[in-house]
Amino acid sequence: MKHPLLFLVLAALLFLPLSLFSACERTPPRSRYTIDAAYENGTLAAEMTVSYYNGTGESLQELWFNLYGNAYREGAAYAPVSPSFAAGAYYEGESYGGMEIGSVSPCAEWDVGGADKNVLRVRLASPVPAGGRCELSVAYTLMLAKVEHRTGIARHSVNLGNFYPVLCVREGGTPRECLYFSNGDPFYSECADYDVTLSVPASFTAAASGAVRSAVLAGGRRVYRFSLENARDFAAVLGGSFRVAQCMAGDTAVQYYYYEDAAPEKTLRLACESLLFFSKRFGAYPYQTYTVVQTGFCYGGMEYPALVYLSDALAQAEAAYTLVHETAHQWWYAVVGSDPVLHAWQDEGLAEYSALLFFEENGQYGFTRAGLLRAAREAYGTFCAVQKQHGEADTSMDRRLDAFGEYEYVVLSYAKGELLFEALRQALGDRRFFAGLRRYYAENAGKLAAPEDLAASFKESAAQAVLGAFRSGGERI
Ligand SMILES: [Zn+2]
Repeated sequence: MKHPLLFLVLAALLFLPLSLFSACERTPPRSRYTIDAAYENGTLAAEMTVSYYNGTGESLQELWFNLYGNAYREGAAYAPVSPSFAAGAYYEGESYGGMEIGSVSPCAEWDVGGADKNVLRVRLASPVPAGGRCELSVAYTLMLAKVEHRTGIARHSVNLGNFYPVLCVREGGTPRECLYFSNGDPFYSECADYDVTLSVPASFTAAASGAVRSAVLAGGRRVYRFSLENARDFAAVLGGSFRVAQCMAGDTAVQYYYYEDAAPEKTLRLACESLLFFSKRFGAYPYQTYTVVQTGFCYGGMEYPALVYLSDALAQAEAAYTLVHETAHQWWYAVVGSDPVLHAWQDEGLAEYSALLFFEENGQYGFTRAGLLRAAREAYGTFCAVQKQHGEADTSMDRRLDAFGEYEYVVLSYAKGELLFEALRQALGDRRFFAGLRRYYAENAGKLAAPEDLAASFKESAAQAVLGAFRSGGERI
């Protein structure tokens, strides 16, 4: 063959294991979360009403919700922070939280179960028909551990990731429970609309996914109302000493909440530049706001729809790289969802490669295309060399999160993922590669995309490339 790389890359994409889940609705109707929550002294007391839209095609008698916040409790079988990060994350030593369900109504019965008390299971009073809706109210309390993690009291802020019971995705007729693996981002959810009221002590400022509809100061409390449509999650961060820098990136209001940044205008500018770059490259960013929040976080950053965490422990260059990676997740996670438990490379590899695309055209930040590719190749090469010392190297990317060691997970999902997309680009050429990415974004926006959907976005381009190669007599395609 003249271009074996093309066929190898196509084979790698097309022979990935089939996944069973179905895509969510691309357009409304969607489920809707209305959450009214009050934060005080490390506890969030909330009432959540879900208007559930049954798009499964079958009548349902039960609804399940993932209770990610319960993984922080003492004795959890699946602790969200691995031993190697625990010392840094739990800055005052051991600390525990948890999520307690107070009531669910209307329903026949409910309990908290699953493999690690990680699921709220609700048996409905009457079935919700296919294409129908039901409404359910859940009163719950989220107790926060002192931990610099997705959900917890950090040293300078309060992280409210995964702060509500999240509807489980149904696959093959059963709800999919998500265990809180300490590796990766085990959050798998469909798009919904959000109306969130958050009451905090007046000394706090809240940064959140979605646009602020109102903010009222009364009785020593600050009460915000946020809304966000067609998003697969909603998160907030509370800070007692936030400053805010903001600007417009096209039609999007970009905000940067920070408490320690020697050059906040640079961070804000990078957020805007990367948002505009990806909008132009992949397709329009859909939300009214994009919020970057500096916070205490034991990893570099974390993505949520319309909001990202940026760790306050990052050096300047690391923060720049992390911010661009997290911004790319707005396309590859927030808008185009995938399964981060079974196919983590799909959004992590693409977010890494998207960061490379940004930096190869924006050299002023000190990262180069050659340097980033060299780093990925070296990381992957070293991993393979180490593995081979113990026998045959297992370089498979498509594993459940708990089937990776921490080092393996990073090298295979990020570095090898990045190299996969570079190989695909080299095989197809820029025009077809970017057309494929744009198609992937346009056709899967608001959905959960399987690896097969990603491959399908490039099939036509690949066929054209092969045809072009034949016709050109084997010249570079
Ligand atoms: Zn990522």
